[in-house]
Amino acid sequence: MALDESFEALMIEDAGGKQQASFKRLSLADLPDHEVLVEIAYSTLNYKDGLAVTGKGRIARRLPMVAGIDLAGTVVDSRSPHWKAGDKVIVNGWGLSETEWGGYSRYQRLRPEWLIPLPEAFSLEQAMAIGTAGYTAALCVDALESWGLSKEREVLVTGAAGGVGSVAVALLAAHGYRVTASTGREETHDYLRSLGASDFIHREELAQEGRPLQKERWGGAVDTVGSRILANVLAQTVYGGAVAACGLAAGPDLPATVLPHILRSVALLGVDSVMAPLPKREKAWALLAESLPQEHLARMTQVEPLKRVPELAEAILAGQIQGRVVIKI
Ligand code: NDP
Repeated sequence: MALDESFEALMIEDAGGKQQASFKRLSLADLPDHEVLVEIAYSTLNYKDGLAVTGKGRIARRLPMVAGIDLAGTVVDSRSPHWKAGDKVIVNGWGLSETEWGGYSRYQRLRPEWLIPLPEAFSLEQAMAIGTAGYTAALCVDALESWGLSKEREVLVTGAAGGVGSVAVALLAAHGYRVTASTGREETHDYLRSLGASDFIHREELAQEGRPLQKERWGGAVDTVGSRILANVLAQTVYGGAVAACGLAAGPDLPATVLPHILRSVALLGVDSVMAPLPKREKAWALLAESLPQEHLARMTQVEPLKRVPELAEAILAGQIQGRVVIKI
């Protein structure tokens, strides 16, 4: 198959001490010397991509850097015995857009151990509709269920209308939990109800300074925002409950006490997707294939061209994106 001689990529470069993203033309010879060459069909836009592309998060740790933490596509050339031309693959994380060139490019060369086969249940586009955000939601749900989440009490999802939040709501509802969605956007209630949320709590209510132990309310929670909201969620979690924390949309601080942990045996389960080992990834994707209703996935997804990434990056940091954004390469 003839490959394009030159192609467009969204690259982060140094601009007088600041990180700045712009479109550049690359050739295959410019790509890293990893074993597997993939033609990328789709990438995604996650909160972290927003931080990287706007330069507000200094996500890229070496420059120049091709941005994009996710990709899905087809192997076109491989020096690894594990992959051959024609294989459909996805990559989430593994330092893409941080230390390794990522998915906002027509082609990328990647290490064989970063790739996983496209799960049979999904098309390349659907796998990116899930993307890092959705796969992280699945890691959170798995962490809570492995802890022993009970169906007796409500489960809370914070940042519910965002990417991780939307998938977490849909997965928890599909597993039969009563889901309360915390959102700052009342206009998303119908959308969240359509994904399976039954109750709502305004994020401002959770953002107030609260006592270290409050009325026990949540059997468990998926927290995507951190900061004071996470501290209040821990203080409202029932005896023996657990909170899976994966995000920092409200801030990286945690102004909390140990009291929920030492008096109520509440567990704070940290969730990282970037360096998660393969068995965890496979379990999370199997959970998504089994439990995520495809009509919900379609409802939470918008598809956008690569050229819109810079403006969408600003929008995701401003909390203006609902659900998931797939980037068509
Ligand atoms: P989104 O921007 O899609 O969702 C974040 C949501 O958080 C927003 O939609 C909004 O929800 C809420 N929010 C935004 N700003 C604030 C604020 N100041 N205070 C309270 N809530 C706020 O991002 P993603 O879903 O892609 O990512 C969510 C978080 O998870 C990010 O911090 C991201 O870095 C992190 N993450 C971590 C991963 C890991 O491996 N640990 C992997 C993937 C994501 P609403 O409008 O409903 O209030």
